[in-house]
Amino acid sequence: MDQLVDAFGRPLRDLRISVTDRCNFRCTYCMPKEVFGHDYRFLDRKELLDFEELTRVARAAVSLGVTKLRLTGGEPLIRRDVERLIAMLSELDAEVTLTTNASLLPRKAQALKDAGLDRITVSLDALDDAIFRAMNDVDFPVDRVLEGIEAAKTAGLDVKVNCVVKRGVNETQIVEMARFFRGTGHVLRFIEYMDVGATNGWRMDDVVPAAEIASLVDKEFPIEPAQAQYRGEVAKRWRYKDGSGEIGVISSVTQAFCRTCTRARLSTDGMLYTCLFASAGYDLRGLLRGGASDRELHSAIARIWWARNDRYSEIRTAETAKLGKIEMSYIGG
Ligand code: SAM
Repeated sequence: MDQLVDAFGRPLRDLRISVTDRCNFRCTYCMPKEVFGHDYRFLDRKELLDFEELTRVARAAVSLGVTKLRLTGGEPLIRRDVERLIAMLSELDAEVTLTTNASLLPRKAQALKDAGLDRITVSLDALDDAIFRAMNDVDFPVDRVLEGIEAAKTAGLDVKVNCVVKRGVNETQIVEMARFFRGTGHVLRFIEYMDVGATNGWRMDDVVPAAEIASLVDKEFPIEPAQAQYRGEVAKRWRYKDGSGEIGVISSVTQAFCRTCTRARLSTDGMLYTCLFASAGYDLRGLLRGGASDRELHSAIARIWWARNDRYSEIRTAETAKLGKIEMSYIGG
């Protein structure tokens, strides 16, 4: 078969799988308490794709060109027996990775590695304990996240650390994070705060542009550009001139990378989205539970990808930022 590409010639390479819409954090910019409070209706168990269904979708995606499967959420480590899913996915011909807040990593890291997880990304927005507790809004201490990172390292997992920067909230942490992680072998990546979903009250003024982030780090620890490793790599990579490692800066707002975006996202209840900023998806659960064969599933995903023409970040304006978009906790970060 010829390589599957979308309307702009972009191949399908990555599938992000949201395994739960629930999270034990209430990060103010992602799942604010006022919206995701006690009376918020999360999905019921029967609405979630089960592990067999998830594996079928992943297998079809791999046969269409996907080389990387990333479990996310919500907080993927609170999905019961997620290690069993990892073991099932690791049978496929693709790298299996996971993005986590690391709160449960101290006790789960070894089991994840043993199940076949290849790499892990930890979200950590501050080292200052007060700032971190205020951002996660459940008073979770930063030391426990650092313990989780250590546990992952000890288990033999390659760890990346992602830090979302929000103006006036954690920009003081940029240099502190660089100081802490340089020389550890863990690649630190800063991410511009994005207008995902509709509940975080995003404003352009809240974004600290990638160029400013890089320049703040450069003043303290001189850096120089490093080559992208592959087409579609979202982070602009910078190397410390003294050889103590590298950082990445992801400029999803100020320098959109739609042109090279090769990702699809599967929501917890089996909707396939072809853009993080989508307002509508495609119901794969209906197909799966309606008795579709693997061949039919494969063709359905191929048709969806083939028709894909999303490029939200390239056409973002203050107006599009207000459109009804899917929440990140549901579609998967
Ligand atoms: N719970 C897991 C975690 O903490 O990594 C996985 C899901 S979380 C939605 C994935 C990532 O999305 C986190 O790194 C989070 O900081 C990031 N994120 C959430 N809302 C964001 C926003 N508005 N802009 C940029 N990144 C965001």
